[in-house]
Amino acid sequence: MNLTPKSYILRIGHRPERDQRVTTHVGLSTRALGASGMYLAADDAKVADSIADVAKRFGGDYFCENDVKWKSCINNFKREGGKVVHLTMYGLRLQDVIADIRQEEKVLVVVGAEKVPGDLYELADYNVAVANQPHSEISAVALFLDHLYEGRELELSFDNPELEVIPTKVGKHTIKHEQEHE
Ligand code: SAM
Repeated sequence: MNLTPKSYILRIGHRPERDQRVTTHVGLSTRALGASGMYLAADDAKVADSIADVAKRFGGDYFCENDVKWKSCINNFKREGGKVVHLTMYGLRLQDVIADIRQEEKVLVVVGAEKVPGDLYELADYNVAVANQPHSEISAVALFLDHLYEGRELELSFDNPELEVIPTKVGKHTIKHEQEHE
């Protein structure tokens, strides 16, 4: 299934000494909910490796690119025709702008950790609030993707998994697959 628009995540403000768990969860959550990959604007190979490890085991082609420069990432994305969505509690209400965003070809969803640089608000095509209340980048980006894809992301299947989960009423059921080699 092809979800449109394609979505990519840009994680800014990551502090390796305190944000590893949250940033890893931003990656895992957005992978599970239909995004194509995450750009990490910090040098933290450990986070990128643990996301890559899950993607390898559970399939699909989600990527995590370590140590990008956030402004170049945004400018390159815009140059290729993509639109930038900055998630911020101060932005326009998700429910008022999501139909317009859904018409775009590809979107770069920017999520912060600590206070974000002021010029990000100007660089973004859309500053979007998932409720105008403070909460978390994980909940904000998960709700954003769910509204963007209107629940279709829950039907996704992931190509070539080593391990596949079989939904089951009680307990845990998985299948181990032989890997396809090129
Ligand atoms: N205090 C920081 C500031 O003023 O920029 C925000 C910290 S918050 C824990 C981290 C990130 O979560 C934000 O940069 C934003 O991307 C996201 N976030 C938090 N609440 C949000 C909301 N209501 N709507 C959209 N994004 C939100």
